[in-house]
Amino acid sequence: MRISTVIPVYNEEGNLAAIHQRLSAVLQQVSSGSDDHEILFVNDGSSDRSLPIIKGLAAADPHVSYLDLSRNFGHQVAVCAGLDHAAGDRVIIIDCDLQDPPELIPEMLLRMDEGHDVVYAKRRARAGESTMKRWTASLFYRLLSRITSVDIPVDTGDFRVVSRRVVEVLRQMPEREKFLRGQIAWMGFSQTSVAYDRAAREAGDTGYTYRKMIGFALDGITSFSDLPLKVATISGFLVSFISFVLMIYALWSRFVWKVYEPGWTSLMLSVLFIGGIQLIAVGIIGEYIGRISNNVKQRPLYLIREKEIRTGKD
Ligand code: UDP
Ligand code: MG
Repeated sequence: MRISTVIPVYNEEGNLAAIHQRLSAVLQQVSSGSDDHEILFVNDGSSDRSLPIIKGLAAADPHVSYLDLSRNFGHQVAVCAGLDHAAGDRVIIIDCDLQDPPELIPEMLLRMDEGHDVVYAKRRARAGESTMKRWTASLFYRLLSRITSVDIPVDTGDFRVVSRRVVEVLRQMPEREKFLRGQIAWMGFSQTSVAYDRAAREAGDTGYTYRKMIGFALDGITSFSDLPLKVATISGFLVSFISFVLMIYALWSRFVWKVYEPGWTSLMLSVLFIGGIQLIAVGIIGEYIGRISNNVKQRPLYLIREKEIRTGKD
């Protein structure tokens, strides 16, 4: 088997037929034999008619396999579940909403032929997304590349082709806060990009609520950077130093100069200030500890309710 395509699906009933059709056309064109590719849908707890539609596609097309997760586990975990079951030498990760054009795949595969392990698609423009989303995304990618030691490519989603060995390394990475684009960047090997214009969503609404986006951003930062912890420590030291100087001054004016006011204002200010800094520091430490405890729990990453895999690999 040469090519597997992993597609996470969350309430995409309006897009499934279209992506299946466009993807099949592209894959037919690039694969030599007829059983040379598989399309693996991962239903991530959709509440609409996505699952029956996927089953219909699987019944009609022997290239189509699917996994049905027991609930909504989130985009990254859905992709991981797909990677765990994909058999191809090359694995394509693509969104279901046709924001990532399947027609870019032949060009990406050509770049793979040059000997790269990862070819990711870099967004030149993003249509049909709110200014707020574009702005927060752009800010996030730039912040992330500033504060992490790993070179995570800017303006890049998970639309990419990866080699078998990248998939195997990903499957061995034990962390539970999956941040695939960071994990893949971390690996090194030979990686390159193809530029494209990100289209608007074909049908349906984004499954990424702001809540999920913030969680995703925090996973990216905490998985790849210690900077927030360092900032907490450094500002803690800084504030302690200033407080120490102020304490000497306060004692000096009280006992040596004997000029002092009942300093209610300054007292309140310093208490509030230090209280604030402490809360920030504790909060940041909490973010990391929460993730440590999550990793210690060793729960399975996802549960599968039902699956149909055509390639005999499970
Ligand atoms: N998705 C998923 N689980 C979720 C949210 C999204 O599997 O909890 C899938 C979704 O079906 C799509 C891809 O992840 O194929 C990207 O999601 P979406 O288009 O909603 O994100 P956006 O493009 O708005 O960032
Ligand atoms: Mg989308």
